[in-house]
Amino acid sequence: MITVGGIGTRQNWRQTLLIIFILTLACAGLNGQTSQKAPNGVNADASSKWKRTLAGTPAQPQTKVADRDWPGQEGAASVCLWHDDSLAAFSYTIDDNNAMDIPWWTATADKYKIKLTWFVITGGIGVPGGRLAQAGKWEDWRKVYAMGHDVQSHTVDHMSKETTLPHDQEYGDSQKVIEKNIPGDRCLCLAYPGGGRANDNAIAIKYYVSCRGGVPAINVPGKTPYEQAHNTSQGIVMDPNNKQCVQACLDPKSPLYRGWYCGLTHYVGNHEDAKKMLTDGFDFVTSKPGNFWVGRYRDIVLYGMERDTDKLQSRMVSSGKYELTLTCEMDPAIFDFPLTVKLRINERAKTITATQDGKPINARVIENAGQKFALVEVVPNRGLAMVDAK
Ligand SMILES: [Zn+2]
Repeated sequence: MITVGGIGTRQNWRQTLLIIFILTLACAGLNGQTSQKAPNGVNADASSKWKRTLAGTPAQPQTKVADRDWPGQEGAASVCLWHDDSLAAFSYTIDDNNAMDIPWWTATADKYKIKLTWFVITGGIGVPGGRLAQAGKWEDWRKVYAMGHDVQSHTVDHMSKETTLPHDQEYGDSQKVIEKNIPGDRCLCLAYPGGGRANDNAIAIKYYVSCRGGVPAINVPGKTPYEQAHNTSQGIVMDPNNKQCVQACLDPKSPLYRGWYCGLTHYVGNHEDAKKMLTDGFDFVTSKPGNFWVGRYRDIVLYGMERDTDKLQSRMVSSGKYELTLTCEMDPAIFDFPLTVKLRINERAKTITATQDGKPINARVIENAGQKFALVEVVPNRGLAMVDAK
């Protein structure tokens, strides 16, 4: 409520109206900023208010990179840059099937407790007489998926010059056949192949929410081009003199601080040097909990786009009881990965429980500088989350 001078004179009413007008403009400006947070959204369809991807390199950062946030008063909350308030994000991807390497990859992933993403060429999978050792059988990919890893698309025929399949078939048919043969798998991401013919962003994003492109770089939160996200095909770069070194994601002085590192490998086979490069890299990214969120490619892009368009409101009902309302601009039919919300809670709290839309959700208590916070996993656009700290 704003009071301006005394009430009763024409002069004062004019002033009041003027101030209301200025405030309205200011609010419109703020709303403008909120929508500019995601200037490149592609709508789910012409009539939908939801976006199905954020395409193009954003002209303005959609998210500001800063150090970890510690909300200052009980009941205040913010969305963490990455899942579980990790400093940075890391995904590892494998192209061109290379099914002969599956046992090595899955054993290595188990050792480090990480999940991987395979981008598979679907055309040769399970085809007798073909290159089955490399392409694999659908049964192999179902097993990989059941272990918690991801199987996404690298097209039907790698954009090969010989078969010249139209783009719609390369992108669309591979998605269909993956979802048909791996029940439960949602094929939302594509890795552009380098088979000789040019890829087409505009066609690809009709089918996918994100495509892994060919630019060798680390992705910066807020400036990530989701329709051709950067990757590092040199594997896990540890040489500090290399621009793409993974350590940059943890270096507050680097412009890549808190970035998303997406590595890529093709064939490993018996190359001991490649295996050592990978295990040294996995040793580094998993060595300190909280440094890297090691996630599947798909989960990282879902988190990123939800975060880039999020809106969070928190409310303290009474000390120890809080409400969180989290929305985002992305299509809820696709975007269902929880964002980590950090909520300042009562310092005497020992345990925490949380629900969203009446169902239990994950939450845990952490401490910083003698103050207590809850990390709560809230899916945007899925109703009110309630947090109870005792
Ligand atoms: Zn390839």
